[in-house]
Amino acid sequence: MTEFAAPLLDVRSDTVTRPTAAMRRAMADAEVGDDVLDGDPTTRRLEAVVAERLGKERALFFPSGSMANQAAIWVQSTPGTELLLDADAHIIHWEIAATAALCGVQVRPIRGAGSVFRAADLAAGIRAPSIHAIEPSMVCLENTHNGAGGAVTPLNELRALASVARGVYLPVHLDGARLWNAAVATGTSLADFAACADTVMVSFSKGLGAPVGACLVGPADVIARAHRARKRFGGGMRQTGILAAGALYAVDHHFDRLADDHEAATYLARLVDGVGGARVIMPDTNIVMIDLPRPCADDVVARAAALGVRISKWHNSRVRAVAHLDAPIGLIAEHGPKIAQALADALA
Ligand SMILES: *Cc1c(COP(=O)(O)O)cnc(C)c1O
Repeated sequence: MTEFAAPLLDVRSDTVTRPTAAMRRAMADAEVGDDVLDGDPTTRRLEAVVAERLGKERALFFPSGSMANQAAIWVQSTPGTELLLDADAHIIHWEIAATAALCGVQVRPIRGAGSVFRAADLAAGIRAPSIHAIEPSMVCLENTHNGAGGAVTPLNELRALASVARGVYLPVHLDGARLWNAAVATGTSLADFAACADTVMVSFSKGLGAPVGACLVGPADVIARAHRARKRFGGGMRQTGILAAGALYAVDHHFDRLADDHEAATYLARLVDGVGGARVIMPDTNIVMIDLPRPCADDVVARAAALGVRISKWHNSRVRAVAHLDAPIGLIAEHGPKIAQALADALA
């Protein structure tokens, strides 16, 4: 099968976006300093803006969301304890057991009755204290939830989850790589969501379309310790203002437009739902998970690629397509039918 050098449509992930010309100009013009030595002015500005938007004392810029998640866990957990989190959490499946390798904690996957765990599931997962029981040290939430197809946990449910955690004095970390999408999809403010957690990670390189980076936000003392963790993990970077300028540009200019991605994802979901028996859960945000009636994800991905469209395999019976800045609804309307074609052919 032929692979197109430059695909007609690449919806593998919202991480494939390239910085726009205006974003590149903002990056090129950024005022910079040595962020390890004495702080980079543009990075400080980004951190101030993000802390303010999320209603937290302090923010710290990280090279990646994974490093920010792990720093949050490193500073708020204790070795030899467990983290309680949703069974499909990014922290469990896509961070190559960093919780075990770096933080010395084990994960306790909680499987909810629905697609994302709820307060009652979390409450049921907390072990009664005993000399035989593993002590919990933290709860991690994820909103939107990547593995659940960009599902939004609404504010009332997030508050209920936080209140279960706080009822047993556990700190809460929110993996909010796509919290921006949750805010746009619901109209709930970032700060209201963030108030449900002690620390929050937000990513700039997903739907917001910046090339690199994430922030961890939280109380000043926790973020000061996370700064030490970042240094220890090798995440101290120098003239980070060039990256921070891209992130600042993204926060200022690409936040409201996430609504377009949500519309495009719904459009694509309708286009492919039912083709060859494939099933789509209608997306809350920008991620379309396509469940296949039999395990043939590799075949579907290869057939789509041969037609010039790149999608990703989630597991043997599921493929994923994600709407983003460089895959607007017009392009999806033009080339999305090729995904339907690949499904029909693979499932014929
Ligand atoms: C992408 C992602 C991360 C990690 O971010 P990176 O910058 O790729 O390390 C964490 N959590 C969720 C839910 C994500 O989608």
